[in-house]
Amino acid sequence: MSARLAGKTILITGASSGIGRSTAIEFSRTSPTIRLIVTARREEALKELAATIEKESIGATKVLPTRLDVSDPADVKGFLARLPEEWREVDVLVNNAGLVKGVETVGSIAEEDIDVMFSTNVTGLVNMTQLVMPGFKSRNRGDIINVGSIAGRESYVGGSIYCATKAAVRSFTDSLRRELISTRIRVMEIDPGQVETEFSVVRFGGDKAKADSVYAGCEPLTPGDIAEIIVFAAGRRENVVLAEMMVYPSHQA
Ligand code: NDP
Repeated sequence: MSARLAGKTILITGASSGIGRSTAIEFSRTSPTIRLIVTARREEALKELAATIEKESIGATKVLPTRLDVSDPADVKGFLARLPEEWREVDVLVNNAGLVKGVETVGSIAEEDIDVMFSTNVTGLVNMTQLVMPGFKSRNRGDIINVGSIAGRESYVGGSIYCATKAAVRSFTDSLRRELISTRIRVMEIDPGQVETEFSVVRFGGDKAKADSVYAGCEPLTPGDIAEIIVFAAGRRENVVLAEMMVYPSHQA
């Protein structure tokens, strides 16, 4: 339980699966009066998540499942205005939506895959940040928690574009934190190592066998491991900024 999070409105992108979904559940367990705006493109999965939280959580967590495609600037721009009025004052933004497409050499990667990775992982995250910023500035408070990746620091063959997007997230997060240093707005980043989610299935275009082979011989993190850290970061005293946290499974080099 965190008293600091009581009554806060949390907006999570990419909440239909994996880390985003677990983060919503973890927030609901942490403070029963929390309000969650859970977003992604798959509305059915969001509704299922809302039902799970409302059934399982103690107390009165309120959940608003809402479709949002972060890679569509027009969708992002009008997002807060489309919400019922009492949901428009966001306290915490978790910029989690992200994906990787393919494991390709630079010579063979498709142009549309390059576009989708940058428009989701980078431009989407920047646009979401701009969306909440006027409210954060006028109240002089608010948390932005960006989900980066170890891949933003340590590149791998076949991941050139994905690694570049996560390096961009890291750089953006760091400069935003510095830009806001004289305010009460906190900017933080969590960089996971290998986590077992749908991420790998998306990477291999739905090929589950290939996706599972990524985890052969190692024990990846669970989405819940990352969710706990995100909620921990948001629950710290206002003067504490966990600027960047790298989280590895113990067997990952
Ligand atoms: P998942 O594939 O399980 O989750 C990704 C989420 O992003 C889904 O909810 C998906 O929802 C959403 N998403 C994708 N594109 C869009 C879009 N255009 N608009 C809105 N939502 C979108 O993977 P993870 O939980 O693992 O990934 C979450 C984050 O963690 C990503 O940023 C990823 O880069 C990062 N990460 C993951 C690691 C891993 O090993 N799994 C390691 C390091 C970082 P929907 O399809 O419904 O839109």
